[in-house]
Amino acid sequence: MNKEHYQKLKKELPKGVTLVAVSKTKPNEEILEAYDLGHLDFGENKVQDLVQKQEVLPKDIRWHFIGHIQTNKIKFVAPFVFLFHGVDSIKVLRNIEKEALKNKRKINILLQVKISDEESKFGFSASALMDLLSSEIYLSLKNVQIVGLMGMASNTDNQDQVKQEFESLKNLFDQAKDRYLNKSDYFKIVSMGMSGDYRLAIEAGSNMVRIGSYIFGQRHL
Ligand SMILES: *Cc1c(COP(=O)(O)O)cnc(C)c1O
Repeated sequence: MNKEHYQKLKKELPKGVTLVAVSKTKPNEEILEAYDLGHLDFGENKVQDLVQKQEVLPKDIRWHFIGHIQTNKIKFVAPFVFLFHGVDSIKVLRNIEKEALKNKRKINILLQVKISDEESKFGFSASALMDLLSSEIYLSLKNVQIVGLMGMASNTDNQDQVKQEFESLKNLFDQAKDRYLNKSDYFKIVSMGMSGDYRLAIEAGSNMVRIGSYIFGQRHL
């Protein structure tokens, strides 16, 4: 890992912004380097990698699942996952509810919202999100706690566009909290911002950034 970048980042991030160090594709030794500096929040996007890492790495690490998850794989991470960032369908939501019950634990999740018009980005549309939050399904969740929203901006050099996309997620978060979240004390996380755009994300109101390559270097896989 790049310790200098990590320390700089820790100094730069405002209080109240949680840093998730995205360790996907990186070996355990590098995760331990960050852990030894006191870092506990790590993000992975492949179930198999996450399970293998969780088995051997310190048990006080808080594992964030940051990508799209397949329904049939939720059971492998449900016993220990700290936060799911990429919940993008009702099917996934229902499955997490089921697995949380089986594991006798509450599982915290973020609903992913599609804020970019790129084909490859998963997530609820703004209207689908509002529909979900006013639905029976939402009210029936007992073991899943929706603690916020997550989004990914377009991969573009157009800063105005990225800024607008982040602002749209923050606005949606505020609206959702005002209108629907009766358990609103829990609804408090806006997860947005990566290595290339975290400053814009924080300006727009992010309080959780997911940063990989800036800390760990480029990924080759
Ligand atoms: C890989 C990944 C990141 C980190 O990206 P970097 O550009 O390396 O900081 C953040 N969020 C998600 C969902 C990712 O898949």
